[in-house]
Amino acid sequence: MPPKFGGGEKCTICQKSVYAAERVEAGQNPYHKFCFKCSVDGCKIQLTINNYAQAHGVLYCKKHYNERVVAQNTQPKMA
Ligand SMILES: [Zn+2]
Ligand SMILES: [Zn+2]
Repeated sequence: MPPKFGGGEKCTICQKSVYAAERVEAGQNPYHKFCFKCSVDGCKIQLTINNYAQAHGVLYCKKHYNERVVAQNTQPKMA
């Protein structure tokens, strides 16, 4: 019999149950270690709690965070 998942956490990416051994928490959201990777197509680099970046619930590597998020949020300035 499968255990009940009443209080079970679901991976933020794949919505499947997350067990302690494979769990990563970022921004108070649980993830599987193997789901915890850059969401950019063609990148998908494996992230760790020490090098991930997150914006609007989307995970990025530092490089893509800077490209996709920081650059978008930074108004060009003529300074
Ligand atoms: Zn997952
Ligand atoms: Zn990336």
